[in-house]
Amino acid sequence: MPNSLRASIRDVIDFPKPGIVFKDITPLLADGALFRKAISLLCDTCGGTRIDKVVGIDARGFIFASAVADRLGVGFVPVRKKGKLPWKTHQAAYALEYGEATVEIHEDAVNPGETVLLVDDLLATGGTAAAAAQLLDGLGAKLLGVSVLIELAFLDGRSKLSPYPVHSILTY
Ligand code: AMP
Repeated sequence: MPNSLRASIRDVIDFPKPGIVFKDITPLLADGALFRKAISLLCDTCGGTRIDKVVGIDARGFIFASAVADRLGVGFVPVRKKGKLPWKTHQAAYALEYGEATVEIHEDAVNPGETVLLVDDLLATGGTAAAAAQLLDGLGAKLLGVSVLIELAFLDGRSKLSPYPVHSILTY
């Protein structure tokens, strides 16, 4: 088994389509010590600031965000792909390489003024996280920052997320 977080990320070439190097986190998740380490490092990105909720992005973001929420003793809020949430939602559309996608949040998921941390597994172009940040802004949340396990820095996703602090554990 790999003994470091970086060594536990498996590159899968041409998945889900030609030209994409997919960062497979399942070897990390399967290693209890590494998973715990990843969650600790993501918790540390709060820098000791008290938060009210952790917001996770569909679907791999849920794995990390819910564990971070549990560790910090706060609630968890899902941002989901369109059509999955049962209650009244706010929506934000964002551009994909080809076409558009939409994410949603329940309109009562966060109270105005609550401080939240946004967590996902990976930051690529930043479109998904920026759409989630827009939803949180719309609900009146105070977004402390965006924390991801993996940042594909060459795609400069963090430029879409200014003025929010972006923290990544592993940069490629
Ligand atoms: P983006 O909106 O471009 O920042 O894409 C971020 C989302 O797409 C994240 O939720 C990731 O789970 C997923 N994603 C994008 N690129 C990759 C990749 N190379 N490997 C794994 N997941 C990816």
